Amino acid sequence: MTKLEGYKTQSLWLSQLTDLSIRPSLTANHDVDVAIIGAGFTGLWTAYYLKKKSPELRVAIIEADIAGYGASGRNGGWLIGELSEQDSYLEDLWPPDKERARTLLHAIPHEAQRVIQEENIACDFKLGGMLYVAARYPEQKHFLQAYERELRQKGYTDADFKWLDAQQTGEKIGMANASGALYSPHCARIQPAKLVTGLAAACERLGVEIFEQSPATEWGDGNVVLANGHRIACQWVVPALEAYGVSIEKAPFSWMRYQRPVQSAIIATEPLSEALWQEMGLHHGEVFSDFSRIVTYGQRSADNRFVFGARGSYLFGAALKHDARLSESEIAFRRNLLQTLFPQLEGVKVTHAWGGNLAISRKFRPHMLLNREHGFALSAGYGGEGVGATNLAGRTLSDMILGVDSPETQMPWVDHSGTFANSKRWEREPLPWLGYRALTSISLYEDKLLSAGKADTARRKFADTVYRLLERKMA
Ligand SMILES: Cc1cc2nc3c(=O)[nH]c(=O)nc-3n(C[C@H](O)[C@H](O)[C@H](O)COP(=O)(O)OP(=O)(O)OC[C@H]3O[C@@H](n4cnc5c(N)ncnc54)[C@H](O)[C@@H]3O)c2cc1C
Repeated sequence: MTKLEGYKTQSLWLSQLTDLSIRPSLTANHDVDVAIIGAGFTGLWTAYYLKKKSPELRVAIIEADIAGYGASGRNGGWLIGELSEQDSYLEDLWPPDKERARTLLHAIPHEAQRVIQEENIACDFKLGGMLYVAARYPEQKHFLQAYERELRQKGYTDADFKWLDAQQTGEKIGMANASGALYSPHCARIQPAKLVTGLAAACERLGVEIFEQSPATEWGDGNVVLANGHRIACQWVVPALEAYGVSIEKAPFSWMRYQRPVQSAIIATEPLSEALWQEMGLHHGEVFSDFSRIVTYGQRSADNRFVFGARGSYLFGAALKHDARLSESEIAFRRNLLQTLFPQLEGVKVTHAWGGNLAISRKFRPHMLLNREHGFALSAGYGGEGVGATNLAGRTLSDMILGVDSPETQMPWVDHSGTFANSKRWEREPLPWLGYRALTSISLYEDKLLSAGKADTARRKFADTVYRLLERKMA
């Protein structure tokens, strides 16, 4: 298998690219204004906005593999107008400021769409919104209603999250036994590898240099050192590495103190017939989640497949998972879940299965910051909601680097001290490993109990209490 063929096996999305090629690596020392490490969404959006705002700036991206090799070329394709745990950043704001922040977040899919149209990027973008559905057991409806009440208390209205009864839900999505759903318009469906490679091409048209097959081994203080020994001298470094930041030890701070890699895993079915889709719906690009603590996410792809993922693993010591393949049991788990939701899928083939690394911060919310002392700007820790957030990150980091005061740089998630002042440090192992394992195990245990439909009140209460306790401890 050639290197290029190997890259195409990393996800359905990468396998669908017909014009994928590998760019040359950096084979000499170099000198730029901004050196970006990593050609995923964070790096590319940052480069894009930097060059749009300041065309004379010299910007280079160095990428260990190819653009989109990381989470950006493997995700579920939900481009959301939200940040993970955004309300924890917003709770102390005055109502008008809170409203401004929410408006900025909700506009993310529209801004991405504007660029996609302007740059002519064919990435199957559809602004269809997202559906959180209760369908597998009755308690899901109560959880969803409790969530809706929580959202109302925080000031969200029907324009942000609308309750759909069973009939209204059925008009959007043909899940067996759906008893209700929450619908939010603030999300678009995309084919992520098409967006990330389209953005890379757009950046190059603006004059950004992209070097692939060029892993960095060290960064900070006006320098990036590559594995081949060459150096880039620069004014600013943008380590746009999310989960992969833990693999570079020589840096101004310890990456894993603030963000740790976790894995998520996805399957995709073969393209399904129009007759099946007539029953299953999702005609307008809506993405969907089965509302439970096992965190699922799905979409109907432009070529009429189901693409469906669920929470994965955390490896001891914040290790990265380098092998994208899933085990039989990981595939079966997702397949069975999908088939419970859509019994029509009996006999349908799963053609692709893959996983990837994303990063979570200790408070499950991203941080965006600029550190003048060591000359870097970074955004990471998106907690599984990075596809849209990276667009906001690109606009924010570019403004901070250019010294522009903008609505984006005024947001409460922006840390101007550059010292992770808004963030909490991860504890040392084995606490993160034990915590994550316990949270995953208890949510699976609870889900099993509830799906079995047994009136085992004591065990349910036990599972719920342990989950809440763990969640509170980790918050
Ligand atoms: C399976 C899965 C499903 C997901 N689903 C969704 C979703 O539906 N919606 C959503 O909002 N978010 C989702 N996410 C999260 C989202 O994809 C990420 O948060 C986002 O793509 C992060 O982008 P990034 O550019 O910061 O990092 P990445 O895309 O991971 O990019 C980092 C880049 O750095 C490169 N790199 C690594 N080491 C080096 C080095 N030493 N030198 C140079 N380059 C290096 C990597 O090859 C990679 O290209 C999902 C993630 C996964 C894994």
